[in-house]
Amino acid sequence: EMKNSEIAVRKNEAISRGVGMTTQVYAAKAENAEVWDVEGRRYIDFAGGIAVLNTGHRHPKVIEAVKKQLDCFTHTCHQVMPYENYVALAERLNKLVPIAGPKKTIFATTGAEAVENAVKIARCATGRSAVIAFTGAFHGRTFMGMALTGKVVPYKVGFGQMMGDVFHVPFPIELHGISVEESLDVLDKLFKADVDPKRVAAIILEPVQGEGGFYEVPRALMKAVRQICDEHGILLIADEVQTGFARTGKLFGMENYDVQPDLMTMAKSLAGGFPLSAVTGRAELMDAPGPGGLGGTYAGNPLAIAASHAVLDVIEEEKLCDRANQLGGRLKQRLEALRADIPQISDIRGPGFMVAVEFAQAGTTKPDADLTNAIRLKALEKGLILLTCGVYGNVIRFLSPITIQDEVFNEALDIIEASIREVVG
Ligand code: PMP
Repeated sequence: EMKNSEIAVRKNEAISRGVGMTTQVYAAKAENAEVWDVEGRRYIDFAGGIAVLNTGHRHPKVIEAVKKQLDCFTHTCHQVMPYENYVALAERLNKLVPIAGPKKTIFATTGAEAVENAVKIARCATGRSAVIAFTGAFHGRTFMGMALTGKVVPYKVGFGQMMGDVFHVPFPIELHGISVEESLDVLDKLFKADVDPKRVAAIILEPVQGEGGFYEVPRALMKAVRQICDEHGILLIADEVQTGFARTGKLFGMENYDVQPDLMTMAKSLAGGFPLSAVTGRAELMDAPGPGGLGGTYAGNPLAIAASHAVLDVIEEEKLCDRANQLGGRLKQRLEALRADIPQISDIRGPGFMVAVEFAQAGTTKPDADLTNAIRLKALEKGLILLTCGVYGNVIRFLSPITIQDEVFNEALDIIEASIREVVG
C-alpha cells in the first residue's frame, strides 16, 4: 500500500518544482466524476484534469473505441502511413466548427501546439508577423504560447526575452473597472504608437478566458474585434482549448456570439483524456503553409483520434450541451442563494457549465486570493477537487464532467456550500 505523503517526498526529490501541483493526492483509479487515490480515498473531481474530461473519466464509449484501435495499431505517423479515422475526424470538425465556407483541419498533441500552429498558419497566410492577445489570456507554455499569455507570474518569470511582435491589450472586465471602450482605446493607441495594423497577422482570444478567471468576452468587444480584423485584413483566432466541447452550453464558445473566427484551436476535452489538439480554419488559410511545414511525429495519434470520435458521439447522444446548461443553472442558483449570507462572494458568472465564483473582501470587489484558496483546500479535505484561477487568484472555477450523475453532483453542491460557510465562518 502506497501513501500519498511518501510519494510526495519522492516527488520532491525526483521532479522539477517548475511543475506546480495543487494537490498531493496521487490517483489510483477514476470513473466518470469520481477519482480514488492510492490510499483508497474517494474524491469528486471538479477539475476534470483541467477541462479535459467533459465526457468524464473513462467514458465506456471512449474506452471501447481506444481498445478497438489498440488492437489494430497504435502509431504509424500520419505523415508516413496515414489512417482513415484521422481524415474522418477532420471531416467531422470541418462540419462542426462555426466558420462559414470550406474548412480544413490539422491535428497536433497539446493545446500549446495548436496555438503555435494557428499562429504559423496566420503568419504564412497573411505574410505578416505581429500578433495581438489580451491581458490575462492563457495560450500555453511553449515560446509563442508563453509570449501570447497575458500573465507574467508564474508563466514568464526567468524565461528571458519573449517572442517578438506580440502585443497585449487589456481584457475588459467591468467588475474590475476595465470597460470595452478602454480596451478598444488601447488597441487604437497600439496601432498608432507601436504596430502598423497592416503588419498584424492575427488577434487571438479565448471566448471565455479560462486560466485568466472565467471572464466572458463581452459581445460588444467580440463584434468590434471582428470589425477591426476585417478592416485591416487581420485574422481572428479563437482559442477554444478550454471553452470547447459543450462546456459553455454550446459545442464551441464562439457559438454564443454572432461573429465567426477565421481559425480555431481545440484540445483538452476534444479527446476525453487522450492527448490531441486541432486547428480548424478557412481552407485557403489552412493551405498556405507548404507540404512539410506543419505536422509532427505524434500529431493526431491514432488512439487519441479514436477517442475523439467517441467523445463527439457522446456529446451528441447524451445531449451534453443541454446538460451543461442544466448543471450550470443549478450550480449558479445554489451559489446565488449563498450570497445573502456570504458578502465575500463578489461575482457568480459563466455561460453554460463554465461557471465560476469570485471572492473579495466583504462587500467590495477587492480580490481575496487567500480566502479563495482556503475554500479550495476545505473542499479537498471534504473530498471535492476544485481549481482556482484568475489573474488575482480569487476565482473558483468548476470543471466537473458534464456527464456527472445527479447524486454525485448534489453531493458536490453540498460540499461547496459547506466549505464556503465554514471558511468564511
Ligand atoms: N489555450 C488555452 C485557452 C488553455 O486553457 C490552455 C491550457 N490550460 C492552453 C491553451 C494550453 O494547452 P496545453 O496545456 O495542452 O498545452
